Amino acid sequence: MPLPLTYTIRLTKKRQLTHNIYDFEFELVEPKTITFLPGQFVLVKTRHPQTKELLSRAYSIASSLSPENKILLCVQILPDGKLTPLMKNWTLGQEAEMQGPFGFFTLKSLPDRDLILAATATGIAPLRAMIENRLTNNAPGKIQLYLGVRSENDIFYQEILDSWTRKHPQFTYTYCLSRSKENRTGRKGRVTQILQGENLEIKNTDVYLCGGKEMITELLLILKKKGFKEDQIHFEQYFL
Ligand SMILES: Cc1cc2nc3c(=O)[nH]c(=O)nc-3n(C[C@H](O)[C@H](O)[C@H](O)COP(=O)(O)OP(=O)(O)OC[C@H]3O[C@@H](n4cnc5c(N)ncnc54)[C@H](O)[C@@H]3O)c2cc1C
Repeated sequence: MPLPLTYTIRLTKKRQLTHNIYDFEFELVEPKTITFLPGQFVLVKTRHPQTKELLSRAYSIASSLSPENKILLCVQILPDGKLTPLMKNWTLGQEAEMQGPFGFFTLKSLPDRDLILAATATGIAPLRAMIENRLTNNAPGKIQLYLGVRSENDIFYQEILDSWTRKHPQFTYTYCLSRSKENRTGRKGRVTQILQGENLEIKNTDVYLCGGKEMITELLLILKKKGFKEDQIHFEQYFL
């Protein structure tokens, strides 16, 4: 496992993806490079400008290149949260402290094993890094991604998912729309409902899940009932 270090980071790109999800790209000011495994996370730390409270929150690394002098984070802004409303207002050049990498939710499967990946909203971040890593290395295993969002307006990353589909026949994806009708880009239902209804290949397949507690708990039950063994399932829980 790469050793965690403490970094100064500087915001170099900020892109709004939906009404409440943003991509943040930070360059590493000092030290200048980070080495991490796809799926790991970092802690972003800053003092609240008014209360001076030290805020420290975990974010999965969405980029996959390592070692690298920049990292991509995909962040959902919570209106009642402490750090994310501040991040929403950060302008280019904003500096913060970062610590990492941390975590054991890493791509452990051999390249020829098939992967089923499921996430809700920004739970896609570590899976994006894992998929990019597999595709860059021309791993032959199939990759099926299920991404849960509420409605068509909450769909993000479609451009990159489409480009992967075009270039890599072993990659497919499904948006699971929990609160809207079936449409051209997605299927109606929560990730849990859609995976429950799928006829999944179990042998030679590993599963990676990322999101809130409810989705993870439900999916663990569903997958075990379908016959997946505990050592085939890996997960990262973002919140209770
Ligand atoms: C290992 C790990 C990796 C993470 N990676 C990411 C990531 O890549 N992108 C990302 O957006 N978040 C990620 N999170 C969540 C993140 O750490 C913060 O909890 C989140 O950004 C809220 O911070 P805040 O200071 O704005 O809200 P807080 O002031 O901390 O309060 C927010 C409250 O909402 C809950 N909460 C946190 N996230 C959500 C959510 N998405 N939906 C509903 N309720 C929530 C928290 O449990 C808390 O009770 C990760 C969490 C963990 C543990």
